[in-house]
Amino acid sequence: MAAIAAAGAPFVPPLVRPLAHRATPTPSAKPLGFAVVGLGSLATNQIAPALQTTKNCRLAAIVTGTPAKAVKWKAQYGIPDRSIYDYDTMDRLADNPDVDVVYVVTPNGLHARDTIKAARAGKHVLCEKPMEVSSERCQAMVDAVKAAGRQLAIGYRCRFEPHHLEMLRVARDRELGEVRLIEAAFGFPIGDPTQWRLKRALAGGGPLMDVGIYAIQSAEMIVGSYPVAVTAVETTKTDPVKFADVEESLAFELKFANGVAASCMTSYKVGGMNRTTAFADRGTFGLTPAFNYDGIRGWRSDAKPLEAPEVDQFATEMDDFADCINANRPTSVSGEMGLRDVRTMMAIYEAARTGRTVQIA
Ligand code: NDP
Repeated sequence: MAAIAAAGAPFVPPLVRPLAHRATPTPSAKPLGFAVVGLGSLATNQIAPALQTTKNCRLAAIVTGTPAKAVKWKAQYGIPDRSIYDYDTMDRLADNPDVDVVYVVTPNGLHARDTIKAARAGKHVLCEKPMEVSSERCQAMVDAVKAAGRQLAIGYRCRFEPHHLEMLRVARDRELGEVRLIEAAFGFPIGDPTQWRLKRALAGGGPLMDVGIYAIQSAEMIVGSYPVAVTAVETTKTDPVKFADVEESLAFELKFANGVAASCMTSYKVGGMNRTTAFADRGTFGLTPAFNYDGIRGWRSDAKPLEAPEVDQFATEMDDFADCINANRPTSVSGEMGLRDVRTMMAIYEAARTGRTVQIA
């Protein structure tokens, strides 16, 4: 950042703390109890298993609208009946001292509902990305958690992923010179046409909200600030029935105050779109694939290694939040960051709609 400031660009505070803060979570006296809300694919296949490997967290409660899942999770994880809730009873979390943190893993358009209930129950909240489907709802979440005197973190797992942190280090140390351009893309062919990800009310949009956000986050991480303007083009829909409610694919550019631009793509149509590349004065470096749960590979044009250890990104993310709560230190993946990214995505949609460059104040 000092280098960017010296080059005449406005100084923007770094968005992340150094790696050392998060690589070795401090064991707390008592692991923090997590209540998982919404027992879908991510909660079942990633979060619950990750909670078994965390240093500072434990699975203490569940909130589900599906009684059969409650039975299964109770048997599998030994959750007592008093710690099993549905969406209408979850305000009773207020009376459960076993729960410190509520992890919201419901569809995007329900994050505000569940976060605000958790905050009113006096709990810290870790909410999955994207934070919500509008900046107004994100603001309501920030306000509710603040009013409760608790912390709100967004599930930006790549902020804790060692390959991404190594890419950030190469950029910050200018090992290949000043970064001038970034290219990032994340997409996958979506299946079931009836799923909530294709419904605007629950998803807020299409692939941009779901996975394009990783490209935005990667660019923000490398540059160390938020974009100030965007342009965007929505590509022609090849399946206007399936994608009646949301975009199918989108190309967009993020413009940063220091002159760096990030050219990004996202899609629900094609696979193999999973990369981030930084173009610097003396070479290029990047991650391909970049955004998977594991198997991330780094590379540099000077043939030096861009390597890092493999971690469970969800365990690392949860341990970091527990660390922040225990140390009374603000999380680096704040609600304000989540809100800013939702504003950026809304600006991208506006740019695609109008064909204009949209400034983000
Ligand atoms: P799923 O559809 O698999 O699960 C969502 C769960 O939310 C459902 O199983 C259900 O659980 C609950 N739910 C409550 N109301 C509804 C509703 N009206 N419609 C559908 N489900 C409902 O989604 P995912 O697990 O894939 O995604 C959940 C969240 O996690 C999203 O915000 C997504 O963006 C995010 N995510 C983040 C990832 C990451 O890498 N950080 C990866 C994947 C997803 P129940 O039956 O228990 O009530």
